[in-house]
Amino acid sequence: MEKDYSRSISLICPTCASAEFEFDLELPDDQRTYSCAGCKSKFNHQEIMDMNSETISRAIDEAKEDILVDITKKFRKIFK
Ligand SMILES: [Zn+2]
Repeated sequence: MEKDYSRSISLICPTCASAEFEFDLELPDDQRTYSCAGCKSKFNHQEIMDMNSETISRAIDEAKEDILVDITKKFRKIFK
């Protein structure tokens, strides 16, 4: 089984700093409306991404490092 590199990213509400959002997973990303569980503000996907781009890019960087480490391990096994 392939390792799962996905990880949860905490999105933070710019209004109340709550990290809990409700959204419909069935909808494609760009059609989702994220509503904050704290202050009930609503954001579209692009707004959420813009507000959290730093957090998200950090999470992606970390995931990339994990993948690199795994690939290196695999190569070591092959060339042993
Ligand atoms: Zn909020």
